Amino acid sequence: MLELPGQGKGVILIVDDSKMNQQILSAMLKDIAEIHCADHGEEGVMMAQALHPNVILLDVEMPGMNGYEVCRVLKQKPSFDSAIMFVTSHTSEEHEIRALKEGAVDFITKPFKYEIVKARVSAHLMLNMQNHFLRNLVNHDGLTGVFNRRHFDEMIEQEWRRHLRAQASLALAMIDVDFFKLYNDSLGHQAGDDCLKAVAKCLSKSSRRPGEIVTRYGGEEFAIILPTTTGDEALKFGQWLCEQFAQLALPHPARPDGVPIVTVSIGLSATVPSLLTQAQTLIRCADHALYQSKEMGRNCATFGLFGD
Ligand code: GH3
Ligand code: MG
Ligand code: MG
Ligand code: MG
Repeated sequence: MLELPGQGKGVILIVDDSKMNQQILSAMLKDIAEIHCADHGEEGVMMAQALHPNVILLDVEMPGMNGYEVCRVLKQKPSFDSAIMFVTSHTSEEHEIRALKEGAVDFITKPFKYEIVKARVSAHLMLNMQNHFLRNLVNHDGLTGVFNRRHFDEMIEQEWRRHLRAQASLALAMIDVDFFKLYNDSLGHQAGDDCLKAVAKCLSKSSRRPGEIVTRYGGEEFAIILPTTTGDEALKFGQWLCEQFAQLALPHPARPDGVPIVTVSIGLSATVPSLLTQAQTLIRCADHALYQSKEMGRNCATFGLFGD
């Protein structure tokens, strides 16, 4: 079984109208990955989206949607990054070129030759898993495991454009750990690191709606992108987050205000994007609201109206 750290085993989806082909390929590949099968093109599209397989073995000739059509539909999905390998009985140059032009990484021919199938599929499985692994590394913060600033910068712009098209409200929460310098000073930098991990875990656990993106914005500051969320909902979320930290009750031995636990201050803002406004303004307004939460004595959430 091919595995990479933190990723588990590879996943292969076989899309073929012939049960016999499914069985032969499954038997050949069961030792290197988890195998799933779809009986026709439409089912293949659905399963590919649900499973995010590393490799899709796609039969070219199927009744209904054929392999090329399935490939075209999947390639249009923004988050699609599986490696597609066509399965065909045609060995002509013309078919080879067509398969690669459609966006396949490779193909295998029928009748199946065990060693060739296994070697080719293994190579693409490993490549795809390595790609995932590297992309994860690029997008995630090494200390806390949540998304990093680079990903935040990309996603806030992407979500802004998506909400502009849908004319839906996009909200943002900026979260800063209170008196964190004093925490480090009294307990040491390593304890400070552990505290940041616990804060990130609490934020991730508390962000349960689909599409919510928890990121480490920098230092002891975090940001959560809240899709299709109004100002009222955002403020309620912020207040609820503060309560989660009260329940977590991580001891903080050195606060000047005598509060014995780690708390966070939160600033929120929300807007329906227009062609005349920018994502950067949403960040600035949430940041300004965070500053107000600090001014008001920390451990609270403040909503900042969107505007210059
Ligand atoms: P406030 O309540 O006003 O936010 O005060 P604060 O002490 O939290 O804010 P300040 O900006 O003065 O200090 C932030 C501290 O966060 C200083 C810095 O050493 C610490 N910090 C930033 N990144 C890390 C990190 O990765 N690990 C640790 N242990 N500390 C960090
Ligand atoms: Mg077929
Ligand atoms: Mg702070
Ligand atoms: Mg700070």
